Amino acid sequence: MLNHFKKSAVYKDINNEKLSHSVLLVTPDTYALEQYSHCLVKALMCSGDDKPCGECVGCRKVEHGNNVDVLYYPKATKALSSAEITELLDKVYSAPYESDKQVFVISNANGIDRSMQNKLLKSLEEPPAGTYFVLLATEDNNILPTIKSRCRIVRVPKMNESQILQVLREKEVEDSIATLAVSYCDNNCSRAINYALNPNFKETVALVEDIFRNFRKSWQMLDYSSKLYNYNENFEEVLDIFLNICARAVALLCGKQIMDPIASDVAKNFSIDALVNLNLECNKFVRKRRSNCNFNSVVDGFLFMILEVRHKWPIT
Ligand SMILES: [Zn+2]
Repeated sequence: MLNHFKKSAVYKDINNEKLSHSVLLVTPDTYALEQYSHCLVKALMCSGDDKPCGECVGCRKVEHGNNVDVLYYPKATKALSSAEITELLDKVYSAPYESDKQVFVISNANGIDRSMQNKLLKSLEEPPAGTYFVLLATEDNNILPTIKSRCRIVRVPKMNESQILQVLREKEVEDSIATLAVSYCDNNCSRAINYALNPNFKETVALVEDIFRNFRKSWQMLDYSSKLYNYNENFEEVLDIFLNICARAVALLCGKQIMDPIASDVAKNFSIDALVNLNLECNKFVRKRRSNCNFNSVVDGFLFMILEVRHKWPIT
């Protein structure tokens, strides 16, 4: 992540002391988001030459989470509360304690209520010299345009497979599970970690692959639905694995040369139109799942949809 960061325009701006006062970091990968923000905050507080040097007082204090001029919000709740914004606004106008800079790191920026965002906007407008805001968001759809226009927006680059594998090894994940998690995570490290730590991950992959390979007739509905009903807690994971296989099969059909047994089986069994529609429909089911629809009917609708796309867009 440090290598990615050092190649960025933001890094150049820090070295030239031209960084915008507000930076909005965006990526769906919460692990990459935290790592990138950590590099940025360290580089901002670093007094060494090759920032972040990792050795100066500023760097070491960020590393140990005790740099008094770096304030992290929200403190306990999931998204910034009204009381915390009031506290933050007060602190913005107080001088830093130990350095000439003060950094406010605000996680889950896309989860902040709109009226709270308006309150926050005031401090983003004209912060005192040396004050920086680093906003972290998994997507920027819910963030007010007025906030975005005051921020330097940085799309955090995706981590590559070997970087993610390294993270999983550090977490002592067994190699076969780590490799499987990496192949299904769409270069999203936090997703890979969730997969690798889920004791049922291998079985979930096996079930999704089984559905892709063998589910063709309506009389099989009962068998597959009874298996999927067990996934009430992590049906989104099932859908993510589905979407991942779909994308890999489409890539194969579009001429990408990869050794991928499940994707090549799917590419033989589904037309490209069926897969494109399967992808669109899967995303609808992701939204349905989030809106707390009756789970069993979501599963039934999902299986029926698979039969339907096969029937509507057969292989010619
Ligand atoms: Zn340093």
